Amino acid sequence: MASARRRTLLKVIVLGDSGVGKTSLMNQYVHKKFSQQYKATIGADFMTKEILVEDRLVTLQIWDTAGQERFQSLGVAFYRGADCCVLVYDVNVKRSFDTLDNWREEFLNQASPSDPKNFPFILLGNKIDIDGGNSRSVSEKSAQDWCAANGNIPYFETSAKEDYNVDAAFLSVAKLALDHERNQDIYFQTLPEASSTEPTEQRGGCAC
Ligand code: GDP
Ligand code: MG
Repeated sequence: MASARRRTLLKVIVLGDSGVGKTSLMNQYVHKKFSQQYKATIGADFMTKEILVEDRLVTLQIWDTAGQERFQSLGVAFYRGADCCVLVYDVNVKRSFDTLDNWREEFLNQASPSDPKNFPFILLGNKIDIDGGNSRSVSEKSAQDWCAANGNIPYFETSAKEDYNVDAAFLSVAKLALDHERNQDIYFQTLPEASSTEPTEQRGGCAC
């Protein structure tokens, strides 16, 4: 009975140039909040969100870069065990699109996934709200082409500010990560469905 509700923890990494809106997208997705103020992310770690994906309870552990993305020195622990990598650029800043190749390579080098060709990436083109799209410097077509050339990466245009496409993008992330995790399961089937790990306070007993 309980096994159908086994929890799955999925590690998601969000990468891209500083200022493209990585922290804002995460905040909008997890906390439904947006702040206009720019605060370099400090002391980063991760935010978690629980969602149901195809009837399965999934905990997304979404890792933010503590602003170190400027130095591209995130360290191996940051990347280790990732199930999906979200690349973000700002549709109004061409340079943030041009650096995507570097971010993708950096991820593959550092995380060294067992099957790099099939590792799930997803691309978000953020800040599409700015100036009603008139200040765009990267077309949707260019982004789609980049995605096609890099193994058919799914692409979403988003606005963290207006909460546009944010849920849809992260749902897609969760699905991709879940598929990836299923494929990796063969290596990680050592944990039993231990009843000892279930929180005792949820059993309806006395807490005294
Ligand atoms: P990060 O360095 O990639 O984590 O970027 P932040 O999330 O800190 O965002 C950088 C700046 O862009 C902040 O001032 C945000 O308020 C702003 N920002 C982020 N996303 C959007 C968006 O979708 N639209 C607009 N207009 N501004 C955004
Ligand atoms: Mg940040």
